[in-house]
Amino acid sequence: MSLRSPMQLTLFDVPAASSPAPERRRLPETPEPAPSPGEQRPLPARTEALPHAAELAHQLSTLLKLPVHLTLTDNRATLVSFRRLPEELRLRVHHLFLGAPEPVVRAIAAFVGRGDARAQALLEEYTRGKRDRVRHTRRPGAPLKSRGQCFDLRAIYERLNTTHFQGHIEVDIGWARRPGRKQRKTIRLGIYDDRLREIRLHPALDQPHVPAFVVDAVVFHAMLHQLFPEEPGSCPSSHSPEFLERERAFPLLEAALRWQHEHLRALLRG
Ligand SMILES: [Zn+2]
Repeated sequence: MSLRSPMQLTLFDVPAASSPAPERRRLPETPEPAPSPGEQRPLPARTEALPHAAELAHQLSTLLKLPVHLTLTDNRATLVSFRRLPEELRLRVHHLFLGAPEPVVRAIAAFVGRGDARAQALLEEYTRGKRDRVRHTRRPGAPLKSRGQCFDLRAIYERLNTTHFQGHIEVDIGWARRPGRKQRKTIRLGIYDDRLREIRLHPALDQPHVPAFVVDAVVFHAMLHQLFPEEPGSCPSSHSPEFLERERAFPLLEAALRWQHEHLRALLRG
């Protein structure tokens, strides 16, 4: 579903880890949900977080031998993302890592420094036991917005569910929030979040020039991820043969993929 894996370590979707660490890792393509008014902020209180954040930044800076500018996030989708600047490393880290034991801090450094796959596994393992905390920070009562300007995702999902899945798929579906106006090189058109049982599509697809069968294909692909829960979710590199065979049952799959590649630039512009 994504054209090139995003360069980040994600909480709910695992990107390919085999490629060498790139110089610059992307900020999330799937943005954080807007906190609703009155929602309790899941980030720890500033006074409580600051000493831990300063300690974490210091440890990472020592390990990486680089000045580290650390930002804490409560992004539901991303654990760690970073950008290398000439004079420092800009690092965004999920607040679950505050107060993490030393091996975990070392794993963050290894992931950032070398794109280390074992470090990635360790970080995922560490957060696995804490996912309840993340889940509970879900914006309460704020449903996903499924009706866009051009496409009603719920209608698409329900039609596909009837025609291809005998109504067995159960998800919430909606448009992701529009990401910031950063220059991007990758785009993830859709993700399936197994813990929340929801599908989110990139808003770049909600445009008049996007053919309906392309949106259908992205939704169909995301629905397959619920059907094949063993899929590690690292689109597009590691789907099982069964997954891919099932996906080929989708009419116009080839045309949809071709369209995505031919219009990548326009999609990146949003
Ligand atoms: Zn996929």
